[in-house]
Amino acid sequence: MVPTRYDVDRDALATLLADEPRYRVDQVWDGLYRQLGSPAELTALPRPLRDRLDDDLPAALSPVTESIDRSGDTVKWLFGLDGGPHIETVLMHYRDRTTVCVSTQAGCAMACGFCATGQGGFERQLSVGEIVEQIVRAARRARDDDRRLGNVVFMGMGEPLANYDPVWAAVERAHDDLGLSARHITLSTVGLVPGIRRLANEDLPVNLAVSLHAANDALRDALVPINRRYPLTVLVGACADYLRAKGRRLSFEWALIDGTNDRRIDAHELADLARSLPLPAHVNLIPLNPTPGYPTRGTPVAGVRQFRRWLLDLGVNATVRRNRGTDIDAACGQLAARVEVAPPRVDSVSARAR
Ligand code: SF4
Repeated sequence: MVPTRYDVDRDALATLLADEPRYRVDQVWDGLYRQLGSPAELTALPRPLRDRLDDDLPAALSPVTESIDRSGDTVKWLFGLDGGPHIETVLMHYRDRTTVCVSTQAGCAMACGFCATGQGGFERQLSVGEIVEQIVRAARRARDDDRRLGNVVFMGMGEPLANYDPVWAAVERAHDDLGLSARHITLSTVGLVPGIRRLANEDLPVNLAVSLHAANDALRDALVPINRRYPLTVLVGACADYLRAKGRRLSFEWALIDGTNDRRIDAHELADLARSLPLPAHVNLIPLNPTPGYPTRGTPVAGVRQFRRWLLDLGVNATVRRNRGTDIDAACGQLAARVEVAPPRVDSVSARAR
């Protein structure tokens, strides 16, 4: 694959600019990461250099569609990648913050049955440039909307910890070069224990969101197949070690599925797990979004409220995640479940229930 503009690090950029004055490296880096510009837009550079960089450092993402929800606060992009796969990125403006949800793989191999990405299978890993460019494009759009991108969640298509090195390089770029606080960067995982253990050894104390969805092994084996390899005791042990190492609160994500994991017994099991950690986990409740390939449905609103009440009564903090962009299939577990691309066809490119 040809390196794209956000694949290169400073050393690679310096090599590329070896025949230029040394200050050009800073100038180009600043243009890419602070001005959020393409090489062609960096007017401080001489025209021939701009043209050369535009050829040598192409964009990684080809916009296919952009959808904006009814409220105007959620923007979803479908991007084409080198070699044909597609991914999606979602930008969400809230009253007090702006967040981008980025994809880390084209498809996902984890095969969680309720998730449209899992239903579509795995295509390939994303490069650091493909991940960082999603953040940069979102930051640019936020700026155009008079907002500032402050949060990045790695909760789009794919399992971030199954593509560890590029994902961590993207986290470092987001922090070091785009100026985002580690406290505002969240990595999600469905429970890849080796990845959680690596994360505990990194310098940056990012947030960890564990997509739990079930708090007993029998149900979790059925909903989240990776649980057969890393059962709950092993997963919770790794979470506890992460908390001890980082001192940051961790969240459990729970996609509420009607009649499956929304009963009182499920709340009790979840509360026991959440409270067993050195710092009690915060629970994010996500009413399951409809996807074409999963026969059951999300918990109705009253059931979601009840489940939250049970957790609160058991001493566990729980928040109901607002589903953003349901009308444009940009909500959790729904991303790009149905996307028309040219030539027209139904494409199953992404979705996540986190
Ligand atoms: S829920 Fe997450 S880990 Fe599971 S298949 Fe979907 S994207 Fe992959």
